Amino acid sequence: MNPDMILIRFGEYTIKGKNRGMFEKRMLQQVKRAVASYTSVHIRQTFGRIYLELNGEPYAEIAARLKDIFGIASFSPIRKITSELEEIRRTAVEVMQSLPKQPATFKVAVKRVDKQFPHDTQELNHLVGGHVLHAFPGLKVNVREPEVELRIEIQPEGTYVFSEVVPAAGGYPYGTNGKAVLLLSGGIDSPVAGYMAMRQGLELEAIHFHSYPFTSEKAKEKVIDLVRRLSHYSGVPIKLHLVSFTEIQTALAQTEHNSLIITLMRRSMLRIATQLAEKVNALGIVSGDSLGQVASQTLSSMNVIGRTTDLPLLRPLLTMDKNEIIRIARQIDTFETSILPYEDCCTLFVPKSPSTNPNLAIAMQCEDSIVNLNEMIAEAVATTEVMKLSPEKPSVAQTTEEDHWF
Ligand code: ATP
Ligand code: MG
Repeated sequence: MNPDMILIRFGEYTIKGKNRGMFEKRMLQQVKRAVASYTSVHIRQTFGRIYLELNGEPYAEIAARLKDIFGIASFSPIRKITSELEEIRRTAVEVMQSLPKQPATFKVAVKRVDKQFPHDTQELNHLVGGHVLHAFPGLKVNVREPEVELRIEIQPEGTYVFSEVVPAAGGYPYGTNGKAVLLLSGGIDSPVAGYMAMRQGLELEAIHFHSYPFTSEKAKEKVIDLVRRLSHYSGVPIKLHLVSFTEIQTALAQTEHNSLIITLMRRSMLRIATQLAEKVNALGIVSGDSLGQVASQTLSSMNVIGRTTDLPLLRPLLTMDKNEIIRIARQIDTFETSILPYEDCCTLFVPKSPSTNPNLAIAMQCEDSIVNLNEMIAEAVATTEVMKLSPEKPSVAQTTEEDHWF
């Protein structure tokens, strides 16, 4: 049976944080956007919770959307009925029946706000609990650690019955923890890093380096597709900055220190990312680095590469193993796109044995030997192409355009 309402719970932050008001406002905006196409849904916000009155709109579809909204800790489908004992008992059994998995233990938790209701909390506990036990042979009461809590709230306007608690994405509402840029390569890791950063409340603008015509148009489309997929979770469009890296990469590849090519490329990428971040008022750089995964992600490499920027380098995947990352990539639906076999700029000119322990002084010497490296970096920043992407359709934005999502 379609429930009558959905109760949405936020994370703890909304209760304790200083920014509770702002979080709740963003949360409400996100929920409104997610259910906008279900025109009969009525939204109510009270005491750090949101209630959706469904008015016949489909629960399963709306639940699927709510699961992906950052900042929602969990939600519960609710039946709303008249405050009559028999109806409450019957609905209690139906609600228990509708659980995805039948529990071995339960308890009834009654809240009687409407004092006109003829039975007190204790009485109602027994009257409903006994009825449910009778309907489910084998089910037991466990007051301390029940698998399921059957909640009954007697309110003046009617009675709410619910038990299922559906876990949602958690984290913080999108954009409530500041803004960063995301280095997005088209591989498996960086989209997952972007998802995790967004879930923690970061607003993101993506940066991708391509070496057109060495890298194909297909490789660019792949990254566009990944940003679109990420924008499903932000709920608002995400900007993608496409940076031409061909000239810089070609210059760096001339170095006699072949094993340092990747280190040098990463250092230039970070310089460009830093300048772009400053342009868009982003205060950090997110990457898909995972400690030790490849030569450029050893601690020693990270040290030499990271010195090119003053901005905090955020690495959500640092301590995660590849299987864990792949599991999330599948779950957020970026995996299949990520494994498409198009060339990434970093797979060109790959040295036979990239250094796992690069020398900072030598890396700096190599850079000094390229007389116009800084000009090339400035040129790459200036000629960056910007796209604004949402799940449905693309639109080309001006580089200078100031956008405020909230
Ligand atoms: P991914 O699966 O994200 O490509 P990876 O394991 O292949 O990661 P690397 O190729 O060493 O790792 O890249 C490390 C990180 O550097 C990436 O996660 C990404 O954040 C950034 N990066 C690499 N190549 C690019 C690129 N062409 N454009 C933007 N960022 C890049
Ligand atoms: Mg890669």
